[in-house]
Amino acid sequence: MSPAPPIDPPARLLMGPGPITADPRVLRAMSAQLVGQYDPWMTATMTETMGLYREVFRTTNEQTFLVDGTSRAGIEAALVSLLEPGQVVLVPVFGRFGHLLVEIATRCGAQVHTVEVPWGEVVPAEMVEEAILRVRPSLVACVQGDTSTTMCQPLAEIGEVCRRHDVMLYVDATASLGGNAFETDAWGVDVVTAGLQKCLGGPSGSAPITISPAAAARIDARKVVEAGIREAADDDAEAGNDHAVIRSNYLDLAQVMDYWGPRRLNHHTEATTMLYGARECARLLVAEGLDAAVERHRLHGAAMLAGVRGLGLTVFGDVAHKMHNVVAVEIPDGIDGDAARSALLTEFGIEIGTSFGPLHGRVWRIGTMGYNARTDAVLTTLACLEQVLRAGGAEVVAGGGVAAAREVYAA
Ligand SMILES: *Cc1c(COP(=O)(O)O)cnc(C)c1O
Repeated sequence: MSPAPPIDPPARLLMGPGPITADPRVLRAMSAQLVGQYDPWMTATMTETMGLYREVFRTTNEQTFLVDGTSRAGIEAALVSLLEPGQVVLVPVFGRFGHLLVEIATRCGAQVHTVEVPWGEVVPAEMVEEAILRVRPSLVACVQGDTSTTMCQPLAEIGEVCRRHDVMLYVDATASLGGNAFETDAWGVDVVTAGLQKCLGGPSGSAPITISPAAAARIDARKVVEAGIREAADDDAEAGNDHAVIRSNYLDLAQVMDYWGPRRLNHHTEATTMLYGARECARLLVAEGLDAAVERHRLHGAAMLAGVRGLGLTVFGDVAHKMHNVVAVEIPDGIDGDAARSALLTEFGIEIGTSFGPLHGRVWRIGTMGYNARTDAVLTTLACLEQVLRAGGAEVVAGGGVAAAREVYAA
């Protein structure tokens, strides 16, 4: 048997809803050599990364760091650390990732209530307030940008409603952070988690998180101290603990806060290569300026939107509430959605996204995010999409996609 050859992936332009083509500068940062866990350079680099993510999240929260794992690890760490069994949580659901929050909160043993709107819409703040008054949750858990529908949930008002009724707010900003405005402190969001593989331009595998002082205190109250885990888990009250212990070791944010904090208590082995990547993602965003990055995503998203419309395609959902970085396009009659995606991939090396649930087989999702929020990536994708549609027999406006996008750029 001959040995396996070295990894040599094909050249691809990833224009789906994530992951996207990583910024080469992030990949270069990730090829740097390892340094020991408690080497002063390493701890300084971790502290520096915390500071960079404070800027990305727009917060002064001391507790801002990375959870090792993909975005879902950040979501699960937040919910398992915040929610005790029996506590009431309210989840506004407007797409697939809202259902993920419901699932994880249910696994935490929480009493889960939802408010739901049809796919393609966002949840009105009044609906959230009405439900808060009805079910009296200790936490509202919400997605900002749900890639399954492309909607971007407005959060300023929901934050204000949560403050007014003294409810904590958790937000999954994985798909939206860096490409759409996000204001942790100004909106009063207690805990936010994200990932690198969307607008941050990196690979998946690290989940940036920020935690308000109030949320950190809520999590710390569940910390296993002298009694030890056995006693604490057996009977929380008898062990002198008013709060249920966090039912995870790896995702126990009380421990992870002590690990990133000044005490540097040993927890897991830092995923050093991911730390380098996450640091570079944040460094690039901060160097560009958060507002400039959001504007870049707005521009290229507007060009892609105009381009698909210029081809004569119909866009799904409430476009006024669309995330900047992804558009859902209805698959024209007579076109086999999967065959067209496959032709785009094999002939042109371009990947676009399929879709889930009620939208499966109805729409494609096309992203313009992170490293691929770029003029050439948008124009190339539109030109190639036109060829594939034409080959499939769809009526498209000749050159209409590229021309409409170029008009947006020229404006
Ligand atoms: C893409 C996405 C995720 C991804 O989670 P992973 O664990 O990184 O796959 C989570 N939440 C939202 C809202 C997303 O769009």
